[in-house]
Amino acid sequence: MLLKENKQYIGRFAPSPSGPLHFGSLVAAVGSYLQAKSQHGIWQVRIEDIDPPREIAGASEDILQTLQAYGLLWDGDVIYQHQRSQDYEAILDVLTKQNLCYACSCTRKMIKQQGGFYQGQCRDKQHSPVANALRINLTSIRYKTTHFKDKLQGLIELDATQVDDDFIIKRKDGLYAYNLAVVIDDIEQGVTEVVRGADLISTTGKQISLYQLLGAKVPSYVHLPLAVTAPGFKLSKQNHATAVDKKNPVPTLLKVLAFLGHPVPKNIAQTNCAEILLWAQQHWCLNNVPKQLEIQLPVTH
Ligand code: GLU
Repeated sequence: MLLKENKQYIGRFAPSPSGPLHFGSLVAAVGSYLQAKSQHGIWQVRIEDIDPPREIAGASEDILQTLQAYGLLWDGDVIYQHQRSQDYEAILDVLTKQNLCYACSCTRKMIKQQGGFYQGQCRDKQHSPVANALRINLTSIRYKTTHFKDKLQGLIELDATQVDDDFIIKRKDGLYAYNLAVVIDDIEQGVTEVVRGADLISTTGKQISLYQLLGAKVPSYVHLPLAVTAPGFKLSKQNHATAVDKKNPVPTLLKVLAFLGHPVPKNIAQTNCAEILLWAQQHWCLNNVPKQLEIQLPVTH
């Protein structure tokens, strides 16, 4: 359906504009940038602005300015998901015609009463797609996604409830689901490897299933350790993690590189972001990145 064969490495950073970049999102930006640039690849930026209620006015511009301040210069034009509805609809149309998705009227409450996870109740009910959610139909998938290989974290096994989960691809309120948009865009942009935070590792199985239904080549995956304040507490835009400093970026960039297992030598650390990133690009080695799902940040006062 959507086959694109790529020889060149194409990576991306795909922030949601739900707030300014914090230390954790900068880790994903720097990690994906270096993984691409160290392989002479392309690094694209995509603003994932498909969830207006969670958006903060001005966040997209702020994120892009922050990337520039840190010397993280992207290739090509920035893609905005809010401009991509036509492509999402076209794919939904194809999936619907092939019976690869269906409308579901189950509420969260109903699912909770049925044991906490959706079990395909609406699959054969032929509900109208109007005012209902759309779910992917995984019964038609040839090879179920039970596990995948992460280039950093190793073999990731999906739990049984995930393997058969007909997950939502369009929400009842009409918004496109992250799992749908991310896969369609990564295919369209020819992304060969997805490098992102380990908080998204649990979405990867679903995304791989979608690639398979769309007949597209699955990219490789690298899930970087998540910066946490205490075990299980990630820094996030929602919990108002502090925005990284745009005016004096070098100290934070050095911290991000140390976090990613690439401490910068003193003589380079005294230069600027461009020089530091160039050194990091030349010395980047995925093997030196900690193979951990999360890393606790030291408390600073
Ligand atoms: N937009 C997502 C976020 O900011 C990241 C999506 C991805 O990298 O797949 O959490």
